[in-house]
Amino acid sequence: MKMIVNGKFVDSSDKTVLEIVNPYTGKLYDTVPNASPKDVDLAVTTAHKGYLMWKDVPLVEKVGILKKFLDLVDKNKDDLALTLSCETGKPLSQAYAEIGNIRIGFEGFIEKAKHLYGNVVPFGTEAGQEKTLQLTLREPVGVVACIIPFNFPCDLFDQKVAPALLAGNAVVVKPPHQNPITLIKLVELLLKAGVPKEVVQVITGDGPKTGNSLACHPLVNNITFTGSTAVGIITYLNGAKNLSHTALELGGNDAFIVLEDADIDLAVEEMIWGRMYNNGQVCCASKRFLVQETVKDQFVKKAVERLKKLKVGDPLKKGTDISCLVTEAAAIRVENQIKKVIEQGGKLVLGGNRKGATIYPTLITDIPTSADVATDEEIFGPVVSVIPFKTVADAIKIANSSKFGLSGCVFTKDVTTAFNVVKQLECGGTVINGASFHRSFEMPFGGYKFSGIGTEGVMSTFDAVTKVKTITLKNILKPI
Ligand code: NAD
Repeated sequence: MKMIVNGKFVDSSDKTVLEIVNPYTGKLYDTVPNASPKDVDLAVTTAHKGYLMWKDVPLVEKVGILKKFLDLVDKNKDDLALTLSCETGKPLSQAYAEIGNIRIGFEGFIEKAKHLYGNVVPFGTEAGQEKTLQLTLREPVGVVACIIPFNFPCDLFDQKVAPALLAGNAVVVKPPHQNPITLIKLVELLLKAGVPKEVVQVITGDGPKTGNSLACHPLVNNITFTGSTAVGIITYLNGAKNLSHTALELGGNDAFIVLEDADIDLAVEEMIWGRMYNNGQVCCASKRFLVQETVKDQFVKKAVERLKKLKVGDPLKKGTDISCLVTEAAAIRVENQIKKVIEQGGKLVLGGNRKGATIYPTLITDIPTSADVATDEEIFGPVVSVIPFKTVADAIKIANSSKFGLSGCVFTKDVTTAFNVVKQLECGGTVINGASFHRSFEMPFGGYKFSGIGTEGVMSTFDAVTKVKTITLKNILKPI
């Protein structure tokens, strides 16, 4: 498939391509252009022209176009879900859920866009300003570069593209290099729905070549990046060269704290949801299972029984719970991380094996706090790492010992303890009696420390993709 620049499906100017492999079958699925800096420049300069026309299109027209887009997504949902599953390896049921989220996300942003009210300051708040009226209003920033990771490409497309367009910006979408095709199809549908061809561009390519030139482009006014912390830092430095506002949603190593009075069955069910969904490739998945010593054996026994019931196999087959990671290389990385956890003192109770891109559900227990996984090593796969602790204070100390601070959760029947634990956690999102994997479109989502800068969601993204203009009407009051 080709990328879309100025409404045309095009190759890269240097004719290079990226091979997109179905990770489950290992077979070539398609190729996409590996966009050169020249292609990126064309996409961004076209988007800049698009911004100059789109910014003045009335909101009611923009909303009408995006609603048509949502109808087209509904009509094409089978093809979109199949594409997403084949290029990513996610179970088809989960691909359908992600396509279904497009309407939820876009409609949330559409409703909010109608309420981006400005402010009016009362007359005479300071001496000498008795005849002065001061107003604020929001204006688009210009060209928004949307750099998107592989794990939930459509969800993050919704989070970035919907508010940017509704606020009057033009967008350049940079899909993940492993699985870009579903996003090309979504951009095609935006154009079919009536978004002008200058306003939305999609450029495919690898990170160091395409992503890097996009983040460095002087006509990019805003970068919204979701991905790893390492690439986020590079992108932040690149954006700084042009003072592009940069929002970063990065990696995590979330703590899942189980206290001795917890409902263990509930904690185990939430572990399945919060660690196994999307084959364990979730930024805010629970990744460090801190379990109080007195209930550790009980938790491990029940968790293993439940993990054994998961169906591992073909993502397209009905009933599959766990399929494969996004690439075989990603699975090899997780396999090596599992070996390292064991070398560093963990005891393997279940799994640990790999077949192609598939990692079988794995549980490692009795991991010492000195192991890398207990602090900063993010494992992006279906691996439950159990770290025992003695006191609640110990659990908080271990949870906060990570450089990451995306989300965290605690299981206990004591609401006072629950509140005090989440209050102490150094992270952006907290959940009580549920896994930290909780992201609704309405809530602001973002991490502390090395997990990011800023938050995303209906409540907050419009602040990032707009600028505030003040208008002062001096001497507007006069006697009549
Ligand atoms: P990644 O950082 O490898 O890639 C993310 C995007 O950046 C891709 O589009 C990639 O092509 C591009 N890219 C790569 N190098 C680049 C460069 N030098 N300049 C500009 N762009 C470049 O991340 P990934 O492997 O796709 O995603 C997994 C990571 O993302 C995990 O760490 C996960 O925790 C994190 N993540 C965070 C959130 C969140 O909201 N906090 C959500 C999803 C994923």
